[in-house]
Amino acid sequence: MTDPIADLSSARILVTNDDGIHAPGLKALERIAKKLSPDVWVVAPETEQSAVAHSLTLRRPLRHRKLSRRRFSVDGTPTDCVLVAQKMILEQHPADIVLSGINHGVNLGEDVTYSGTIAAAFEGALLGVKSIALSQQRGANGAIHWSAAEHFAPDIVRKLAAESWPRDVLMNVNFPDLTVDKIKGVTVCRQGRRKSSTTVIRDQDPSGRPCLWIGDYPNEQTLERRTDLAAVEAGMISVTPLHLDLTHRKTLQGLSGLFE
Ligand code: MN
Repeated sequence: MTDPIADLSSARILVTNDDGIHAPGLKALERIAKKLSPDVWVVAPETEQSAVAHSLTLRRPLRHRKLSRRRFSVDGTPTDCVLVAQKMILEQHPADIVLSGINHGVNLGEDVTYSGTIAAAFEGALLGVKSIALSQQRGANGAIHWSAAEHFAPDIVRKLAAESWPRDVLMNVNFPDLTVDKIKGVTVCRQGRRKSSTTVIRDQDPSGRPCLWIGDYPNEQTLERRTDLAAVEAGMISVTPLHLDLTHRKTLQGLSGLFE
């Protein structure tokens, strides 16, 4: 179990993301972190790394750049960033808590297996540190507003940090595309599953040659109730504990004896 952090004001916070060091969501999360503690460090990818999942850079050298005293970029993945931060930049005094995000777009249901935002928090959890991934739903026209996340996140992070968590668990927080006054509340719920799956779109490049795009999800529709997807659709902020152990217990039991 990870120990509760009763007072975050003396904690060291590591902020990272998968949208890159220049992403507006990272700046929003820095502002949130600075409301919690003066000891905030940012180590984030140099370029956007959305949907890289939990990948590591192993076959080429990594370069990191010091942008200011507590702000660094790494030309690698979100997972690389957490490792470089905890094992090198903050080696003498690693962060007590990792905040990843705020992602430009939700990480609900099956998104969590693609997400670099979630993966950075997984890496934090693997290193024994409380880790929270935060993501913001995009508006209908792609516009995004960070005000509700900035309003609600400090209290959510404070409350979660004050709990003790099992090993290898991280928290996945998603904010609906609503203003502060329209948010219906915060709910703890399980990971859901969308009705539709990822799409592949046929397109043409500027010279007329055919190409393909891996498409986005058309919407957040789900058939299941009491899930992260259903919560955000209903205007709630969802909080879902995720576990690195992907074993399906019931099937495991069902298969016991199969090869005996
Ligand atoms: Mn992203």
